[in-house]
Amino acid sequence: MSELTRMSAVELAGKIAAKEVSAVEVAQAHLDRISAVDERVHAFLYVDAEGALNAAKRVDRGEVTGPLAGVPVAVKDVIATKGVPTTAASKILEGWRPPYNATIVERLQAAGTVMLGKTNMDEFAMGSSTEYSAYGATNNPWDLGRIPGGSGGGSAAALAAYEAPLAIGTDTGGSIRQPGAVTGTVGAKPTYGGTSRYGLIAFSSSLDTPGPCARNVEDAALLHSVIAGHDVRDSTSIPQPVPDVVAAARLGASGDLTGVKLGLVKEFAGDGSEPGVAAAFRESLEALVKLGAEVVEVSCPHFEYALPAYYLIAPSECSSNLARFDGVRYGLRVGDDGNRSLEEVMSMTRDAGFGPEVKRRIILGTYALSSGYYDAYYGQAQKVRTLITRDFQKAFEQVDVLVSPTTPFVAFPFGSRTSDPYQMYLADLFTIPTNLYGGPAISVPCGLSEGLPVGFQIMAPTMADDRMYRVGAALESAVGTLTPPAL
Ligand code: GLN
Repeated sequence: MSELTRMSAVELAGKIAAKEVSAVEVAQAHLDRISAVDERVHAFLYVDAEGALNAAKRVDRGEVTGPLAGVPVAVKDVIATKGVPTTAASKILEGWRPPYNATIVERLQAAGTVMLGKTNMDEFAMGSSTEYSAYGATNNPWDLGRIPGGSGGGSAAALAAYEAPLAIGTDTGGSIRQPGAVTGTVGAKPTYGGTSRYGLIAFSSSLDTPGPCARNVEDAALLHSVIAGHDVRDSTSIPQPVPDVVAAARLGASGDLTGVKLGLVKEFAGDGSEPGVAAAFRESLEALVKLGAEVVEVSCPHFEYALPAYYLIAPSECSSNLARFDGVRYGLRVGDDGNRSLEEVMSMTRDAGFGPEVKRRIILGTYALSSGYYDAYYGQAQKVRTLITRDFQKAFEQVDVLVSPTTPFVAFPFGSRTSDPYQMYLADLFTIPTNLYGGPAISVPCGLSEGLPVGFQIMAPTMADDRMYRVGAALESAVGTLTPPAL
């Protein structure tokens, strides 16, 4: 394996800018690595070798500059890339090549990054393991018989397999952080509205948040800084400057957390984290205390209702958002033989095009929104969402950030949770409250349990994304990064 694939994004950007290495060499090294390992990992749904090499040539000719000039990036397949297949890992979008780029993709290009391809995920970002991808699961580089998390398992696995130094994910209920945790990589969910949703295939519009994935905190911060910021094409985008997350990560890396108050959520304590996960979390918390942080117990009494509220709100929004996949406008069309009605063709297309989990969510959401049940389910869930937001606001009057394990368990073996949807939903027990509130949160590797990575979650107030990077970088300085076994 070329040593170029082992380097951080910051190192690569520095070497390319100093002309110690060309952007083409860096892109080729990563494409070679993908050729060597992706048959086993299956992080990518599409590799755009030609596009990557052309973008790298433009950097080498000096036509493109920017803070990440020449640095490769992998993009989750739920994000529209002009002319490059975008399927959201669904059969219903097979072969669709968007006629436009997502804002995030435009910003990646403006920053000089080189897109290697599109990464695997659970269909329409619904899931926690990538087992719901219509194109086959991704395998965790730590143990190829285990899940890489989801929905953005492809992006996280690409990092852990050294196929890309940076990746883009989307987080609706944990899909950046949970894959980060179980692959030993860093995943950050920015403040909702801090990164543009324009060109992101919508799952649950009031929750969906694109964000950065990387192998270390500073790289994640750098990627965050280039994709974030106001976008007039997204009506929920926040028209405010993005906090300086890169400076915060560098400050944190100095290893001083004097005066920083970490809130330990009382209600999370009894939530059945695996013993090894709980132990790694506790040890990391002690490491942060040695750096000067203070731990304060806080109460967030409504967090226990977050999971049920999420599984009403997210399916409700998805049932509406996925109505557009009707066999007329995009991708797949089934049964259009000239004799069938429009309704029949739509129904056959949706039956063939959507997988079982997506169908389950659409049915659940349609039911929750139906007249007669709306107030009992959707309306109640929205009230719970408000109470969870108030829990966060009250907690942040006492502490700077909240901390928890990212997931209750380490990467599980394939097939062990697909038979019971609730078992799969539990993977996001600790990540979902943040999505309902809208704040930022990051997962940083904090050790191993039974030889598998454990993630440490840091949750911050809305628009205080810099705080989680500071604490995350401090944690990384204390516990180090994780290196997966060689593939
Ligand atoms: N696992 C959660 C779900 O299935 C979260 C997914 C996400 O964040 N996109 O809905």
